Amino acid sequence: MGRILVHICCAPDAVYFLKRLREDFPEEELIGFFYDPNIHPYEEYRLRYIETERTCRKLGIKLIEGEYDLEGWLRSVRGLEEEPERGKRCSVCFDFRLERSAKLAKELGCEAMTTTLLMSPKKSIPQITESGRKIAEKYRIKFLPLDYRKGGGTQEMFKLSKELELYQQDYCGCVYGLFKQKEGEIFWDLVSFKGRRPGSKEETVLIKEIRMLAESFGLPVKEIEFPFLDWKVVEGYVKVDGKAIPSFVVPFSRSVKGRVRADVERVAGNTLYLSKQFVRLRLVEDFKDAPVEEITGITSPTLLVPASYKEKLLRSRVEVTLRTELGEGRSRVLVVGSEEAEFILGVPADTLQDGRGYGKEFFERLLKEKQEDIKREKVCLLLLGAHSLGRPGERFFEELTGRKPTKTMPYPP
Ligand code: SF4
Repeated sequence: MGRILVHICCAPDAVYFLKRLREDFPEEELIGFFYDPNIHPYEEYRLRYIETERTCRKLGIKLIEGEYDLEGWLRSVRGLEEEPERGKRCSVCFDFRLERSAKLAKELGCEAMTTTLLMSPKKSIPQITESGRKIAEKYRIKFLPLDYRKGGGTQEMFKLSKELELYQQDYCGCVYGLFKQKEGEIFWDLVSFKGRRPGSKEETVLIKEIRMLAESFGLPVKEIEFPFLDWKVVEGYVKVDGKAIPSFVVPFSRSVKGRVRADVERVAGNTLYLSKQFVRLRLVEDFKDAPVEEITGITSPTLLVPASYKEKLLRSRVEVTLRTELGEGRSRVLVVGSEEAEFILGVPADTLQDGRGYGKEFFERLLKEKQEDIKREKVCLLLLGAHSLGRPGERFFEELTGRKPTKTMPYPP
């Protein structure tokens, strides 16, 4: 066999599978193909792709990214939404991904194909093999039904994933599996944000992208995961005369019951107090969201509104709705360089509610500029996840290493 096409579903399943494949087929060229339009939402797809790219780079395996044809995939499983895992929907899902893989294998002149789905602990090897064989036969290539799970393979896979600090997904991939596998907890998995809210998939995508870039420069990298007190706005608005006005919710504000319709009963400095449920409206000249430096607990429902609305708010009835959620979140600090470096520069990896934050291009420039200083241990760069909610990453880093960032950049103006 000259070339083998390997359909790849995610990095954790690929890392050990590819290693073994390389050992068992030392003469063959391996070509990875990431074709998984079943993954939902798109941020989750990006995360799994980035981690696959990082893994393939480490192993020196060429990787091709397929099209994210979500609509095509959804059409193919129509009518099978309620099927259980390992049922008919999964068979169609395997067929969909392997058919495209076989087509590419043929185009690239591969004599055989296989899939890292075979490594996935929760999947049925006979079910995947049936799909793979049937499709490979159609394209007149060979399907390799490799079982690398046995003989401690699964444990090895977990070990390698941990060593490489690979992103570990907690559901199979599709929206239907998500509903079944994460009952009641899926709301936040399906929400996309304007920026990168603390602990979100968008934040993790950025951290993983910068990690891959730093590795490509030959810089030492490490991820430190940490839990934090997460606070989210589910729904919130301020209306005057029935019309919504611009507002930001102050972090750690609690929810209001139902809908508050009230007048301003007191003005103290720049704060307007409504007559019900302790709602406060803070008037700000420079209307922007602000990060929380220290968490002092749950506060009364407080919203920032532009100062220009003051007269209107004083004259009219005000309507406020606010639903927030408090719980445990997970985020990470990306450490680029040595913790012993002379200068530690912290940069927030999340964005504020108004979308202000540092983008990928900024970090790329920073890394290019500082790479020599990082190699010489003069500078260490920290990408701080969930920074806007009380600097939890900074604190966790300090707790673990006894070092504080020499400087942490404020959010951009
Ligand atoms: S549960 Fe997994 S294998 Fe089954 S249809 Fe969804 S993504 Fe495909």
